[in-house]
Amino acid sequence: MYGTPGMPGARPVPPSAGTAKTLILIALIFQIIGSVIIALIALVVGSALASIGFGGLGAIFIVIALVILLVAILAYFYSYKPVAEGHYDAARTPTLVLGIVGLFAGGVIVGILYLVAWDKLGDAIREMQPPMMTQMAYVPIAVPMGTPGIVYGAPPGTAPTAPPAAPAPPCPRCHRPGTWVPQYGRYYCYNDQLYL
Ligand SMILES: [Zn+2]
Repeated sequence: MYGTPGMPGARPVPPSAGTAKTLILIALIFQIIGSVIIALIALVVGSALASIGFGGLGAIFIVIALVILLVAILAYFYSYKPVAEGHYDAARTPTLVLGIVGLFAGGVIVGILYLVAWDKLGDAIREMQPPMMTQMAYVPIAVPMGTPGIVYGAPPGTAPTAPPAAPAPPCPRCHRPGTWVPQYGRYYCYNDQLYL
């Protein structure tokens, strides 16, 4: 299984990915409940309307319920499933589209859930990036290197942690010793791009 906790060398699931997955799941449940409620309204109200000659309205409700259900199925395959499998980048655009469509056509709550999930997927992708790239983003460009009083390589407000006294653990894939990453407080293999 991909990303099973405790499995040696498994890529850790970024915390934001877990949040995104939960939000998408809640949105999916809302969509399914919504489509069932609309279908029930169609059956109850529709039959009443049909008796006075407005049977077409019930049919419109049924179509709306089916469209919502279809969107929920698409959301499962293009948003929920990729997130669950760790393909956060692949899930981003479909989740954004679901958010925008949801805001205007599927109920505001469903739209907001997908949009927050989309934002969290962006965080998850950043959390997955090799720490060196994150680290470089914090180096002040305008200040020349060597200026006294400037601490390079660490984001402001974070105290870099010292590596443990034990020797660096070897990477489970390439068996090279890991590199200590102070911001994350963990060892990292640059060769395989995974945390040890
Ligand atoms: Zn490695």
